[in-house]
Amino acid sequence: MKEERREFPGVERKERMQLTSAGLPIRPPEERIKDFDGVLLIPDVETAIQEALRCIHCPDPAPCFKACPADNDISLAMWHIEKGEFLEAADVYRQTSSLPEICSLVCPHDQLCQGACPRGKRGEPVLTGLLEAFVIQQQRETVGYKITVGVPTGKKVAIVGAGPAGVSCAEQLMSKGHHVTIFEAKPGPGGLLTYGIPNFKLPKEYVFDLWDDLIEAGIEFQPNTFVGKDKNIDDFFAEGYDAVFIGVGANVDAPMRVEGEDLPGVINATEFLIRANVPIDLLPEDMNTRPEIGNKVAVIGGGDTAADCLRSAIRLGAEEVICLYRRTEAEMPGNSHDRELTVDEGAQYQFLTQPIKFIAGDDGKLAAVECVKMELGEPDDSGRPRPIPIEGTNFIIEVDTIIKALGYWPDETIGKTTPDLEIHNWGLIVTDPETGATSREGVFAGGDGSTGPDLVVTAMVAGRKAAASIDKYLN
Ligand SMILES: Cc1cc2nc3c(=O)[nH]c(=O)nc-3n(C[C@H](O)[C@H](O)[C@H](O)COP(=O)(O)OP(=O)(O)OC[C@H]3O[C@@H](n4cnc5c(N)ncnc54)[C@H](O)[C@@H]3O)c2cc1C
Repeated sequence: MKEERREFPGVERKERMQLTSAGLPIRPPEERIKDFDGVLLIPDVETAIQEALRCIHCPDPAPCFKACPADNDISLAMWHIEKGEFLEAADVYRQTSSLPEICSLVCPHDQLCQGACPRGKRGEPVLTGLLEAFVIQQQRETVGYKITVGVPTGKKVAIVGAGPAGVSCAEQLMSKGHHVTIFEAKPGPGGLLTYGIPNFKLPKEYVFDLWDDLIEAGIEFQPNTFVGKDKNIDDFFAEGYDAVFIGVGANVDAPMRVEGEDLPGVINATEFLIRANVPIDLLPEDMNTRPEIGNKVAVIGGGDTAADCLRSAIRLGAEEVICLYRRTEAEMPGNSHDRELTVDEGAQYQFLTQPIKFIAGDDGKLAAVECVKMELGEPDDSGRPRPIPIEGTNFIIEVDTIIKALGYWPDETIGKTTPDLEIHNWGLIVTDPETGATSREGVFAGGDGSTGPDLVVTAMVAGRKAAASIDKYLN
């Protein structure tokens, strides 16, 4: 970590503090709800330079650097941008991040780099996420981007899962000259970047650009291969692979266990988002049609997934979209900026409300949900106040569609089919957080499949750390 103050000559902090931000360029709600296109617009050169000039270059280690899980040297990138050195700025990000085109769009910046920016104490923080997206786009449009492939080592690594963790691990291993094959259960790459995060937050072309880079660098891809069913971790070593990385995420929708959960009209968030957002040719066989929703849609849950479902339902034409959450807004785990966008797009939030039963109409389809009012009690294991039902407050909401966005569990298959692989919490793989090493020699893991549901950036960092350990192991 940089402990010394670097010199950014001529930086007059007082003058810079006077500069105001043009704010996030986003499409107006009435326009953006008509399609699934990206909501954030990339600024022009002039606006980007003006925004970068607002950076006061805090003493090292700068708060934004400390708050970035990827250790991006944001202050240096801002310095390049204000001087018009966009390619140099892009290189700063590429040194520490395998997914700058993705993290710049989907990181919860308000809780990370921008949340740590001292300018945010009195006004708008420097919009560092937006500027990262700007320089990466500049790089793609002017000189393009190519992964630097290392001198071939003759070593082969199998990666399970093509999400942020697997893809980042692959990129780093290829830069060291190792041959990489990714085995993926779905028909296409990207993990939740493709099969989860909606297009209006992360346009799919960014994911496909990144994938094209890996293909060009020589990655091998085996889609539609569920490891633990179609082949096992031990098969890889028998086939001559020298090491394995497991980046399988935590993709099983948490169940609700209430009456009526199987009614037509009740759908899990994952299936809903996949069917709403993924290009038809990349949809798994059992989900290859767009979801049909009614006029009145209720989403259950309070995280980012719930906001994504609300916003997708609005775009699919639902007239009334409501979020049912059992605590209050203060306890909601999701990104507050996304929630603001969701409200602007017309969704309503009903707090302290717990659905307890899904009710069928005469046609056998979902017609209503019975709820009970909640109050907050003492903190539970999560540290948040425990929601407690208030007796006698049951009420009915008429709905056509319910989307359950209650969180995610890991899949147990790999843990159950890999001898001596230590697992915990219903299937998460035990790893050394610094090296990604598991209890099996030559087998490494990282991302949501080891930590539980987290962020793209943390999965990316885990993939990179594991790649460094695998490289050491192979040498
Ligand atoms: C709806 C939604 C919205 C989100 N929004 C954001 C956001 O805005 N910002 C943010 O930072 N994070 C967000 N996240 C979280 C983020 O997407 C994850 O933390 C991240 O994708 C985890 O990366 P990963 O590589 O560990 O796993 P995943 O992205 O889950 O990738 C794992 C891959 O492994 C494959 N796989 C699983 N099991 C097997 C197997 N046995 N054999 C072969 N392949 C297998 C899966 O098909 C998948 O492709 C969101 C998550 C969801 C669900």
